[in-house]
Order: sequence, then structure tokens, then C-alpha cells
Amino acid sequence: MGNKINLKQKKSSLRKSKKEKQVSGTAEWAPQNANFINGCSHNCKYCYAKAMAVRFGRKTADNWKTEEVNLEKLRARRNQKEGYTMFPSSHDISPENLDYSIEFIGRLIETGNQVLVVTKPHFSVVESICKRFAGNKDQILFRFTIGSCNTETLKFWEPFAPSFEERLSSLQYAFSMGFQTSVSCEPALDTHTEELVHILIPYVTDAIWIGLPNRLNGILKLNGANDFTTLKCAEVLRNTQSKEWVKDLYNTFQSNPKIKWKESIKKIIGIERPTTVGLDI
Ligand code: SF4
Repeated sequence: MGNKINLKQKKSSLRKSKKEKQVSGTAEWAPQNANFINGCSHNCKYCYAKAMAVRFGRKTADNWKTEEVNLEKLRARRNQKEGYTMFPSSHDISPENLDYSIEFIGRLIETGNQVLVVTKPHFSVVESICKRFAGNKDQILFRFTIGSCNTETLKFWEPFAPSFEERLSSLQYAFSMGFQTSVSCEPALDTHTEELVHILIPYVTDAIWIGLPNRLNGILKLNGANDFTTLKCAEVLRNTQSKEWVKDLYNTFQSNPKIKWKESIKKIIGIERPTTVGLDI
């Protein structure tokens, strides 16, 4: 009997702590995500998905850039889910996998899902998605990852992803076609974030999310990107994105309803973090 009571108490306290856990990462944006590719041709140095794939033996640091399509996942039956489904969260949409990605988005859309399309946008990719899903604008929210307005900086951290100019054109195009648009400036890759926001915000219907690089050195090591130059640049980034810099940035945009702050910044400022997934706040 005593054991039963203890078990009951334990279960209820487990439920409580699970319920009260503050959300982080992609769970801040969407309650669920969907993927069908192992690997990503963009090969970003700071990639968390790559680090996890290397850590758990699904990929090596060298072959991460080779994209392997999982046809079973691609063609799996999709049910309607509540809230946004983030696609993709552990790879990207490249010109090479575009046809498959359009098929995948189509499956999500036709079962009534709301899709948060997250990508470092190639213009040809965005153009094709906008044309194919012109009749489903209310089910798609684009979220383009743009961590800097300097192409050299982007090319250093994200060697095979599009230039700043191509990402900006993609955002402008999706906006002009009447789609809902948003930006993820996470990780911010320099301290010119204020300038970046001013350039992008006229084409954003939803929000610009700002966040810092997370667990950078550990991830760089797993990803085989821990050469002297990269570690030096990571150190510069950490030092320049100081708490004071974060606070100034927050003060600049705190009354702008289109600017949202990721967990890394919420912690510094002292903003309460939600305990429910996918609130997008
Ligand atoms: S685009 Fe995303 S998934 Fe692809 S390597 Fe970069 S961070 Fe990783």
C-alpha cells in the first residue's frame, strides 16, 4: 500500500515537472516537426542536427553533406496535427531535393496541416514552392534563416548555403506573392543584427526571431570544424555578442511586436519562457 502511494506521488510529480519544463529550440516555434532526409548539403559549421547525427553514428562529419532521402518517411501517411508542423528541422530544402520536398509539403498540406517551412532559402526553391502552393497560402508560413547581412560571414559559417542577396530576394519574392513570411536570425553570426532587421522587416508579415549561437565549441568539435581559425572566430563572436550588446539590442526592439527573442536571449534579459510547446512567442 505504502509503495502504491509513493508511486502515485512520484508519477504526479513527474507529470508536474514535465509540464513545467521551459521549452527551447524548435519547440519554441512548433509542437511537431517533420523530416525525410539524413544529411544536408549546406554543411553549416554550427549545425546541431549534424552534431547529433555524428554523435549517434547516423553520419560522419565528412559525409553529412551527402543527402540521403528516406522514401519511407517521405511517403508515410500524414495525419492532421494541431498547430504548425515545422519542415524541415534537421536538414534543408536544396535545389537537388526540391521535387521530393514539394511532394512532402504537399502531403502535409493535403491532410490539412499548417506548415512552417524553415530554410536558408535558394531563390529557385522558394519560387517553385510559391508557384506550386499558390492556392494554399493560408497553410504555409515561411521562416528564412538569415544570421547576417554579410555574405562573407554567411559563407564562413554556412559554406554551401545561399548568399545574403539570394536570401533577401527569396524573402522579397515570397512576400510579393502574398505568402506569410518570417525570419530566423538564429544564430546571429555577427553584431550587425540591428541593420539586418531594418533591411528585412519591410518584407516580414509575421516575425523576426533573434537568438545567439548555442553550445558552439562542443558542436564545432563534433562537426570537425574545430580548426584554429574557426575557434578564433567563435571566440570573437562570443566576446562581441556580450550581455551588454544583447541588452542594447533588446532595448532597441523591445516595443516592436515583430521582433521575438529565442531562449538564449530570453535567459539574459529575464523574460519568462513558455512551458507549452509551439506557442511561437
Ligand atoms: S542548413 Fe540547417 S540542417 Fe543544413 S547544415 Fe545548415 S544548420 Fe544544418
